[in-house]
Amino acid sequence: MPKTIAVNAGSSTLKFKLFDMPSENVVAEGIVDRVGFDMGSFTLKYGNGQKYSVEQKFATHQEGIDLLLQKLTELKIINDFSEITGVGHRIVAGGEYFTDSVLIDDDVLDKIESLIEYAPLHQPAHIMGIKAFKKALPNATAVAVFDTSFHAGMPEENYLYSIPYEYYEKYGARRYGAHGTSHRYVAQRAADLLGKPLEELKLITLHLGAGASITAVDHGKSIDTSMGFTPLAGITMATRSGDIDPSLVDFLREKLNVSSADMIDILNKKSGLLGISGISADMRELESSNDHRAELAINIFNNRVIKYVGSYIAEMGGVDGLVFTAGIGENSAETRATVSNAFNYMGIKIDDNKNNVRGKETIVSTDDSSAAVMLIPTNEELMIARDVERFK
Ligand code: AMP
Repeated sequence: MPKTIAVNAGSSTLKFKLFDMPSENVVAEGIVDRVGFDMGSFTLKYGNGQKYSVEQKFATHQEGIDLLLQKLTELKIINDFSEITGVGHRIVAGGEYFTDSVLIDDDVLDKIESLIEYAPLHQPAHIMGIKAFKKALPNATAVAVFDTSFHAGMPEENYLYSIPYEYYEKYGARRYGAHGTSHRYVAQRAADLLGKPLEELKLITLHLGAGASITAVDHGKSIDTSMGFTPLAGITMATRSGDIDPSLVDFLREKLNVSSADMIDILNKKSGLLGISGISADMRELESSNDHRAELAINIFNNRVIKYVGSYIAEMGGVDGLVFTAGIGENSAETRATVSNAFNYMGIKIDDNKNNVRGKETIVSTDDSSAAVMLIPTNEELMIARDVERFK
């Protein structure tokens, strides 16, 4: 059966998932970790719980991909490289060029390269991944799937900041959003679950993981999203601050006597749930702690989520469904209940029995709730593989 591989190349990692298509069965998945370090590792899961792993140095992504392909044949997961007829690459920044996934050619690669300054850690890795797979599988259909493209059609009033307009024109200073593949996937699944066309629904998708973002999906289109120029904006996250007053950045930089880069690092890696609680970036640990600051971190997180949901309900003039996904959204019944209960006043009602569930596609609101509350496990890799199929 023809196969498609979904690839997510990060600065020092390469994650992959191999699907039989069109059946969408996962035949293998894994990760090349610590690329460029003195010692790296490779893990491949396949078959019925079988696993192959090895520790070795990977100087480049290419070396990781070469070992991956070698093992796929050696372990008889595939008979021949020609079985992999599609490669889908997750790309963080698509700028204003890409409003949908595209077949990769030289022009597309040039444009992805031109966007390096919008995602300096990710974009170079994506380019390496694209080139390495092109070399290994020259005949496979290669498709770029952008985190930003689902949001690229947002109305001007939602993607523009209230700053001099020429900064948008000259430097592309605007909201791009992120997690687009996840929001697109869960919105479509939510429509399927409700048995209604996506184009008839007003949905709010809540991707609540270590990175977290919320999107207003109005009649199938992202019309607003909480992440901004970069994924640092929006709601409180595991270690990211989310929205803050920009004046605070310089004020704190001077007080702390740190560089701009270090200040941004603090906002990315030492803030959010971790920064507030001083205990953990992990919602599980905070939920099981009695510490006041753990409770405070959860309250601030919920409060920011509720504010965004409320504002998106106002923007869309109503809502048909709230869709919870990613680590917190899929596992924390408490978060789903607290956020949904904030909208009791407008008839949204959680069913506590139905909500006592994890990681399973299901409706957790009562039958008479004014909007459905859903839990939909995200599956970005599958969305990527499906996008590749469109171009085969
Ligand atoms: P993700 O980035 O989607 O993998 O989500 C990771 C986050 O999900 C973790 O940092 C936890 O905060 C959260 N998470 C995972 N499992 C649970 C759980 N059982 N209860 C609450 N939060 C969870």
